Amino acid sequence: MHEQQSYICIPITESEPGRFLTACGEASEAADMIELRADYLDLDMAGIFKFLEELSLKSTALLLLTFRPSEQGGMRQLSLGDRRQFWDHLPQAVIDRLTYADFEFDLVESYAEGQPPVSWEKVICSWHDFEETPGDLQSRFARMSATPAAVVKIATKANRITDCVEIFRIIESARKPVIALAMGMPGLMTRVLALSRGAMLTFGSLRHGAESAPGQPTAGELRNLYRVRELSPESEIYGVIGKPIGHSRSPLMHNGALRAAGRDGVYLPFEVDDIDRFVEDLVRPATRKLDWNLRGMSVTIPHKLSIMKHLDFIDEAARRIGAVNTVVIRGVELHGYNTDVIGAMRPLDDLIDVKDAMVAVIGAGGSARAICYGLAERGANVTIFARDVRKAETLAAEFKARAASLDSFSGSVDLVINCTPIGMHGHSQGQSPIPAQSLKNVKLVYDLIYNPEETSLLKDARTAGCRTLGGLAMLTGQASEQFRLWTGKGFKE
Ligand code: NAP
Repeated sequence: MHEQQSYICIPITESEPGRFLTACGEASEAADMIELRADYLDLDMAGIFKFLEELSLKSTALLLLTFRPSEQGGMRQLSLGDRRQFWDHLPQAVIDRLTYADFEFDLVESYAEGQPPVSWEKVICSWHDFEETPGDLQSRFARMSATPAAVVKIATKANRITDCVEIFRIIESARKPVIALAMGMPGLMTRVLALSRGAMLTFGSLRHGAESAPGQPTAGELRNLYRVRELSPESEIYGVIGKPIGHSRSPLMHNGALRAAGRDGVYLPFEVDDIDRFVEDLVRPATRKLDWNLRGMSVTIPHKLSIMKHLDFIDEAARRIGAVNTVVIRGVELHGYNTDVIGAMRPLDDLIDVKDAMVAVIGAGGSARAICYGLAERGANVTIFARDVRKAETLAAEFKARAASLDSFSGSVDLVINCTPIGMHGHSQGQSPIPAQSLKNVKLVYDLIYNPEETSLLKDARTAGCRTLGGLAMLTGQASEQFRLWTGKGFKE
């Protein structure tokens, strides 16, 4: 690793000069360096020069200047000749203010024989692949490293999370300052862990919607959520595997808990398609290709079942439910647990004793299984209502419950638990799985949905005079139990 400065850099991606200037001001507060993406500016070449001259006089930030052609991810149609013209005629006052100038690899090669207008110590030699992370990355990187440019930058598209391994190899094998990252959601961990593994710089956008490349988190997230500045190669790594994973609330909860507990660790979203390859290349200590301190993972849709064949131990509840939502890495082994039961049942236990209670479980999917397991343990009298009665029957047979079709639900129970997505934001918000009039004599209605906090079902229940419980307590409860499995303590202990 090099003794070097490391930077969180915000790219400025406004096209209108006034807004570009404002964004520079805001970014200087939030970042160590700002990247002036001159290719975004809606000005002709002379206009850009004049604008950059004024900006470099006003700004006190460390500046990186980039003028990217469209075929390499930029916003302008630019030939190599156009780019040469830009750099060759850039006012000296601007050049003097730059900390770094980004030259695409072909531009660097075009100057290789002579002296570029910006001295080589300020040149970042960059190469991008927006389609994939190619197999010949190391040889390309070697050729780029052999140029006189001070820094090498490689950015490729991660089509699968295991592509990140190649990016980390680049960072770790670098003999000069390096920027290497994988674009897209599966590549997110390269952006978060880059600095801790020796990269010179990582990019964060000024705000959501202002990204200069796919998968770029905001600079605020890098600094405050993932705390990239505080991480080292020894930091504990946790994460959630699933797909899609971009909207998971788990990173917010677990990173907050890690910070509150004063632990040197970070929790990442892992977008995983191929669970077998992910476990082999990144998780199992005996086979993984990345030397990192991975300690545990949350597991969500669609991997709660498919992870099971990879585990060396599965606890009793997870085995009976047939789903694992938590993995703990103990030595060389992977251990699986299910914290959904405890997460779902504890808030319910606080409100009602379900022993011998008449309970209607709506839905027969994954969370219904966890609920049925918890209810069976407590001796409740359960009927499962599902649109597909055969699914309800299969589940009922396992947990000594009864099965019925969803249409036949008419009330006459103590407790209703919704385990379907009906009413969920982005799915069917505003709808309810059962008619409002069927809730008249129900004591408590529990909806596992947490977004919105009050679903239509819960609104109907409140109107009918029932007690209500939403899904937020389960969400934090199951996460807290995961945290306890990894660290020995739950949230707020
Ligand atoms: P799942 O395994 O996909 O099961 C969903 C169940 O709902 C299935 O029985 C499905 O029936 C049924 N269903 C789906 N759409 C329906 C519709 N339009 N009409 C009638 N039935 C329908 O999902 P899950 O993991 O059990 O999760 C269910 C919901 O619980 C999630 O959407 C989420 O909001 C909530 N949840 C909350 C937490 C929390 O921490 N609070 C945790 C897990 C889940 P088919 O099998 O016929 O498709």
